[in-house]
Amino acid sequence: MKDENCIFCKIIDCEIPSEKVYEDQTTYAFKDINPQAKVHIIIVPRNHYENVAQLAKADPKQLAHMVQVAQQLADEEFHGAYRLVFNTGEDAGQTVFHVHGHILTGEKLDE
Ligand code: 5GP
Ligand code: ZN
Repeated sequence: MKDENCIFCKIIDCEIPSEKVYEDQTTYAFKDINPQAKVHIIIVPRNHYENVAQLAKADPKQLAHMVQVAQQLADEEFHGAYRLVFNTGEDAGQTVFHVHGHILTGEKLDE
């Protein structure tokens, strides 16, 4: 389940380089190119879904797994504290239409 025009599908397939921080059979995570926190990681499913609602409907276990991986990464980076954001829709700031969670951690975050 790939989209040949999708930048995150290309990152997952290593056609575009990224700073990988985690991978398994279903899930890939890498450093955001334009970090908004001391540690800013993007977490994606290997399969292409447009947004988090589509993923939740099609494969809720995958979404739950991504939350568990986010927790594991934040445990390593910042005593398990993190913000997990899914921008959904252009008017909410979504620019890449391959579902991704922003994991913001590594420091105390503004409220
Ligand atoms: P969105 O605005 O869709 O929620 O988030 C897209 C995120 O992907 C942005 O934070 C942006 O910095 C990041 N991003 C876009 N293109 C690339 C890229 O080629 N490499 C990496 N590492 N991050 C990217
Ligand atoms: Zn994709």
